[in-house]
Amino acid sequence: MKSPAHRTRDIERQAGYLRPEHCAPPPLRTGSDTMWFIRDGCGIVCGVITWFLVFYAEFVVVFVMLLPAKNVIYSLFNGVIFNGLAFLALASHAKAMCTDPGAVPKGNATKEFIESLQLKPGQVVYKCPKCCSIKPDRAHHCSVCKRCIKKMDHHCPWVNNCVGENNQKYFVLFTMYIALISFHSLMLVAFHFVFCFEEDWTKCSNFSPPATVVLLILLCFEGLLFLIFTAVMFGTQVHSICSDETGIEQLKKEERRWAKRSKWMNMKVVFGHPFSIAWLNPFATPDHGKADLYQYIV
Ligand SMILES: [Zn+2]
Ligand SMILES: [Zn+2]
Repeated sequence: MKSPAHRTRDIERQAGYLRPEHCAPPPLRTGSDTMWFIRDGCGIVCGVITWFLVFYAEFVVVFVMLLPAKNVIYSLFNGVIFNGLAFLALASHAKAMCTDPGAVPKGNATKEFIESLQLKPGQVVYKCPKCCSIKPDRAHHCSVCKRCIKKMDHHCPWVNNCVGENNQKYFVLFTMYIALISFHSLMLVAFHFVFCFEEDWTKCSNFSPPATVVLLILLCFEGLLFLIFTAVMFGTQVHSICSDETGIEQLKKEERRWAKRSKWMNMKVVFGHPFSIAWLNPFATPDHGKADLYQYIV
């Protein structure tokens, strides 16, 4: 039976009809250690805005609220937590942006490559007409990255990259840490307002009272907006990881062709096996391979 998913693929052909001669030869590899970075103006601007907004929040939290506060333990405790989480958020952002999300080698739909697959009669492979690559199952073409991306979820301009098989962990951590610093800064603003109402306004900040209020209100708006946005994104991502269905597959209502695993196993495939504190560490590369060894079909 032909599933509706098959109709959504770009090109479906038997091996003999792929006509690889229409593809340019694969580009010479410039070394696998070349940094992955998408040259997209909109994405770069959004990425810079993200860093600017985090630095703005750091500035208000440290210089407007914590340094002028009289309680040293309160300032130190909140300062360490806020700056630690902000550092992890920016590190996750950098990792999500500069990690290859799972790009399929460009132009690999060559005659030699297709022959090397040793396809049996009747076996089907998919070719992407845009980047001339043989698409693995669940890969989709991204028009911004101009590449086919394995298990592509969506292209996110805020991290100027696709969210796919290899960088989903960093993207989820990015949304989580931004949600946490947004919540923390809202709490700090609330405490600061209470403190300032009790004390004289001139004593609660090194800035003038009007400047303090404007800086705090702007932080409040930023915190609220990003708390809602990133918390919803975090929930959506965890749900799609647990159900092992990418954003694109949900949109296209693709029929499941892949093995069904438990929710916990799906989390391990993305965050690494076994469960450890490394799940929260944006510098730890998840070990997808080991998790796959433990996969089972329900
Ligand atoms: Zn493609
Ligand atoms: Zn992309």
